[in-house]
Amino acid sequence: MTGFTRRLLRHLSFAVTACALMLGASAHAQSGYTQTRYPIVLVHGLFGFDSALGVDYFYGIPDALRQGGARVFVAQVSAANSTEVRGEQLLAQVKTILAVTGASKVNLVGHSHGGPTTRYVAGVAPGLVASVTSIGGVNRGSRVADILRGVAPAGSVSETVANGAASALVGLINLVSGGSGLPQMPTPALDSLTTAGLADFNRRFPQAVPTGCGSGAELVNGVRYYSWTGTQQLTNVLDVTDGPLAVMGLVFGEANDGLVSACSSRLGKHLGDYRQNHLDEVNQLVGLRDWFSADPVTLYRQHANRLKQIGL
Ligand code: CA
Repeated sequence: MTGFTRRLLRHLSFAVTACALMLGASAHAQSGYTQTRYPIVLVHGLFGFDSALGVDYFYGIPDALRQGGARVFVAQVSAANSTEVRGEQLLAQVKTILAVTGASKVNLVGHSHGGPTTRYVAGVAPGLVASVTSIGGVNRGSRVADILRGVAPAGSVSETVANGAASALVGLINLVSGGSGLPQMPTPALDSLTTAGLADFNRRFPQAVPTGCGSGAELVNGVRYYSWTGTQQLTNVLDVTDGPLAVMGLVFGEANDGLVSACSSRLGKHLGDYRQNHLDEVNQLVGLRDWFSADPVTLYRQHANRLKQIGL
């Protein structure tokens, strides 16, 4: 039995247990505010931890959605691999979730590399997907990935800034994976996150990608597409992840969340730019964010209600 198979079985067992718990909890879903017709599947990004430093990747978000009546599953795909490999892993998990729940479709919600990953599934199996929501999604590449692959436009940033950004990303990955993270990003993952890598991906999966920096098509092949993102880097002095994100943010020269530019994040209907950095978007670390910004958990709840309102 491969490591992946073991993880998948563990995940499925968790899914069945979660489903049973949700059936019990549904009686207590007081408002039904987040009670979508189709299950919600949360898909992590390149950091890929399902539990780092003892906390969930989407910190506090699954529980908040379940309390309002949603059926929620947290996918587990390769932390650092190509979009296609991650996409096939997600597709298999989506089919399992549909079998377990009896639902005919899912609402996919992806963060960071989870954006292209969910788009892959909607591209190859649109009949199984009610909606794709991309949060801080690397939909047109990341300048940080370009620099790590050595393909950033020459002279666009100083070597010192570029080296600082590269070190910051490795440090951040080590930090959020409890110190046992990857010494460097494997090439297939990194190539999937460069501007050129996403240009290639977008030629094959153009659905809902805008041509400019506004909204893209909201409805493609029966799938609804949405996105939102953060446009700040330093948001909370107590959060140790803010420093690396601030260093990486220096390479962009345009609005960004520390890892992805606002324009790159756009997909389908653009729902907003918020005072959040790349990890605030998943309520990390442990809810440390700009207290005057929109609550990340509230954004997820409001979006679930948005999906519910249109029958998804
Ligand atoms: Ca934070």
